[in-house]
Amino acid sequence: MKAVGVFPAERRFEVVDHPEPGIMGAMDVKLRMLEVGICGTDKEIVRFEYGNPPEGSHYLILGHESLGEVVEVGSAVTALMPGDLAVPTVRRPCSQLTCAACRGGRQDFCFTGGFTERGINGRHGFMAEYIVEGALNLNLVPRKLRDVAVLVEPLTIAEKGMTQLWQVQQRLPWTQNGPDQPRGEGLRAVVLGGGPVGLLGAMKLVLEGFETFVYSLSPPGSDLAGMAAGFGAKFVPAETVSVAQMAEIVGNIDVVYEATGVSSLSYEVMKYLGTNGAFILTGVPALKGPKPVDADLLMRNQVLKNQVVIGTVNASKQSFADAIADIGQFYQRWPKAVGSLITHRFPIDEVREPLAGNAGGIKSILTIG
Ligand SMILES: [Zn+2]
Ligand SMILES: [Zn+2]
Repeated sequence: MKAVGVFPAERRFEVVDHPEPGIMGAMDVKLRMLEVGICGTDKEIVRFEYGNPPEGSHYLILGHESLGEVVEVGSAVTALMPGDLAVPTVRRPCSQLTCAACRGGRQDFCFTGGFTERGINGRHGFMAEYIVEGALNLNLVPRKLRDVAVLVEPLTIAEKGMTQLWQVQQRLPWTQNGPDQPRGEGLRAVVLGGGPVGLLGAMKLVLEGFETFVYSLSPPGSDLAGMAAGFGAKFVPAETVSVAQMAEIVGNIDVVYEATGVSSLSYEVMKYLGTNGAFILTGVPALKGPKPVDADLLMRNQVLKNQVVIGTVNASKQSFADAIADIGQFYQRWPKAVGSLITHRFPIDEVREPLAGNAGGIKSILTIG
């Protein structure tokens, strides 16, 4: 079968002929892959800055944002059947008995760093015609989400971030609204970055009831203002509005959801985080040496304004279930905005274009099956 293989030692990647996997265990599920999203992590891997093949393999099959259709199930699988759509989780636990996170099924909090990740680190990914995965790592997707479910994995970043946010903000008892009242009502959120992670995070914040501002540069030819307006967020262009001016426009910033990976921007915005505010960091900058920050002001604010900074890496199975539920909500409320996140679709043989070229737009995906 066809798969996208990255050969780090030879510094090349190409479509390879990989043996088609088969069901080995009673809980295995075989999927025909339909779509695989491409993100910054994939681009880093094909620049050989990141990622490792499985032990004994010269290449790593790329891809971690995916949607597949079940074609065969092991004898003990009851939750899925052929014809079902499913999205696999990505991270698998480390083997250390002392890792409370992994032993508790929460490898997104792994202490040892010995976890593996499909399509990234030590395990083949999903840019292949077929994959086999344990049923417990798969999340059933309703058929009506066929066209957008490839966005579930990038949305899990926001899902875990928001779960963490509300757990942390339980320290503010008055933010616990009634059951029918959105938790973010009356609060203001700033999203840094208008890429797929930022826009999906902004949708989640709007769904939670926040007055949501997206602060971003605009890639040429994009209409981020129109897009944000399409789901009830406000767009603030970073080309013409400084961070200080943006903060002036927003007022008390209750939450910042960072989705740029740009540390200098993040710590500049952190200076304007509001009283009792939370700053959620999701981006992973490359290490380029120390940079100056206004440390006295940051520390002073963090103490005097009861601020918290939350770093978050995705994601648990629960975050995937939350993302599937929420993408359904987004799609129902804002079908056009959700659909317009996917700007390019490429067949697997043209994978070089979105990975190594510059396809532009917001989200490129590979259509496989
Ligand atoms: Zn990704
Ligand atoms: Zn672990």
